[in-house]
Amino acid sequence: MSSQHLSAYRGRFAPSPTGSLHLGSLYTALASFLQARSQQGQWLIRIDDLDTPRNVAGAASEILKTLETFELFWDEQVFYQSQHLETYQSFIAQLSKQQQVYPCICSRKTLAEFQKNSTIYPNFCRSKTSIPSEPYALRLKTESINISFTDFLQGVVCHNIAEQDGDFIIKRKDEIIAYQFAVVIDDYQQRITEVVRGFDLLECTPQQIYLHQVLGLQPPAYLHVPILTDQHAQKLSKQSYAQAVDMRNPAATLLYLLTLLRQHPPLELQYASITELLNWAIANWQANALKAIRFHSL
Ligand code: GLU
Repeated sequence: MSSQHLSAYRGRFAPSPTGSLHLGSLYTALASFLQARSQQGQWLIRIDDLDTPRNVAGAASEILKTLETFELFWDEQVFYQSQHLETYQSFIAQLSKQQQVYPCICSRKTLAEFQKNSTIYPNFCRSKTSIPSEPYALRLKTESINISFTDFLQGVVCHNIAEQDGDFIIKRKDEIIAYQFAVVIDDYQQRITEVVRGFDLLECTPQQIYLHQVLGLQPPAYLHVPILTDQHAQKLSKQSYAQAVDMRNPAATLLYLLTLLRQHPPLELQYASITELLNWAIANWQANALKAIRFHSL
């Protein structure tokens, strides 16, 4: 599926295989695709399938089929997180060797009782050095430094991880690699230059940049697009039973999505094919049209 690429831009779309794509995730996929293709860049797919209890059988192939129906063709082979467990483990070993992580046996209940109004981990296990006999999570020791970055659409974000989040989990008690950790290793492995994703993940970004720094990796640039919400101002999501994308008339859906992305497709594209619509959208893509917008109500 690869074509000749002139730029070093590498973007990605990273759905979790927890169900079919809904309009909100297709909106993000399209924005990320257009941002890459308008810069003659590469666009990769990663299936975020580490959280095995949430995976739904057949969802990954259905998601890929939907992307193909909308002609959002990707480069290279699809990257499945579950095929990279050894890589995550080797980065964890590096952090353990540098004594940057520690085992934590705190239960949710203990923390809830203690934390009350705060979500910051109270460092109960920070001084632990021996490996506990019971199941434990791995937490990253955070230092009080300010992480500051400029999101292409949302502007400057400044955040102090130690003070605002505390030591966070990179491997869960059930042995599953935490999203925050995996995403950093994946973006590094896939040589992603810019992450385009939903605004709801903006709050995770400082921790990810912090992890890049701890691991000595160069973080990508970030662009967080608005998220689509329903009539009740709820994010369209699989959890809120958002409907799968209607595949009966993909060109009409694509035109609608371009309008939602504020690209103002001209009237003569009303009956255009998917290929024509995408060609127009790539040639005319203006990410700026989404500047500072966080939510889009349908
Ligand atoms: N898998 C995540 C999701 O579906 C996206 C992760 C990311 O783009 O960093 O919400």
